[in-house]
Amino acid sequence: MPNCQDNILRNYPLTASNIYDNLYVVLLLINFMSYTIKQFNQDFPSDDVCLNYIFKQKYGEDFICPKCHKQGFYKVSHRKCYACAWCGHQIYPLSGTIFHKSSTKLTNWFYALFLFSASKNGVSAKELERHLGVTYKCAWRMAKQIRILMSQNKDILEGIIEADETYIGGKATSENRFDNKASVLGVVERKGRAKVRRVENIDSHTVTKYLKQNIDSQSHLMTDESPVYDKTPYQRESVKHRVKEFVRGNVHTNSIEGLWSLIKRSIDGTYHCVSERHLQHYLDEFVFHYNHRKSKQSIFSLLLKRLVEKPY
Ligand SMILES: [Zn+2]
Repeated sequence: MPNCQDNILRNYPLTASNIYDNLYVVLLLINFMSYTIKQFNQDFPSDDVCLNYIFKQKYGEDFICPKCHKQGFYKVSHRKCYACAWCGHQIYPLSGTIFHKSSTKLTNWFYALFLFSASKNGVSAKELERHLGVTYKCAWRMAKQIRILMSQNKDILEGIIEADETYIGGKATSENRFDNKASVLGVVERKGRAKVRRVENIDSHTVTKYLKQNIDSQSHLMTDESPVYDKTPYQRESVKHRVKEFVRGNVHTNSIEGLWSLIKRSIDGTYHCVSERHLQHYLDEFVFHYNHRKSKQSIFSLLLKRLVEKPY
């Protein structure tokens, strides 16, 4: 199963005592960090297996019936439902998940999750349509639901924070550089997590509010010379991009510039064009990949965890 790496670490905790033991654990982990299509097909061959996986993730191996307090559930045939062997109490594991009320096969949903986890440049609805043999409308809806699964949480970033703004989408002309583009604000911890949000406009008030909601009050802010950061209540240093100063010792915004170019390249390459209304979902997707780029767990197993953890 995709959460094998948890089991590996539980059974073989990484210690400094024996280099060969550690090497073995690292090799096992590498094997599970990149979750392959072969493993996927072995783990999730049918809808019943997928449903059973969600049931176990949601309620655990030793689930006790909330009605009669006894143990033992069986799958009700031809329904996405489990029933208590003692009192008949029924449980619907898909309620409250992105699969709720969906008529799409669970194996298709899981495969779509696998595709999203394998591609850090994003998956278009057209691609999903081709891979799964579903209608474009269905593929588009699935992609949207999976991006909701990747939504950014309310974590507060801390330490050295690079903050920057950018403009995404639309076609720029010489006299109209920004008008039909969406404004986006972002913060990145040095060598850490990122958060990105589409905003109505970029001004001092919006920037300050955004920073207060997303970064710790003790953060050390790194920005460019833009005056929108002048009134923010943080210790701040800036580089002057206008006079081609990009790095001054520890002061730079290279991490967030890198994230912007990744997002823009992916939107241009995979999606070609993203409507402003849905831009935040795409931003969430990129940020999810970015924030888990060094994760010991595969993106696929992280997404499966979110299936049952996040309330919808
Ligand atoms: Zn019962």
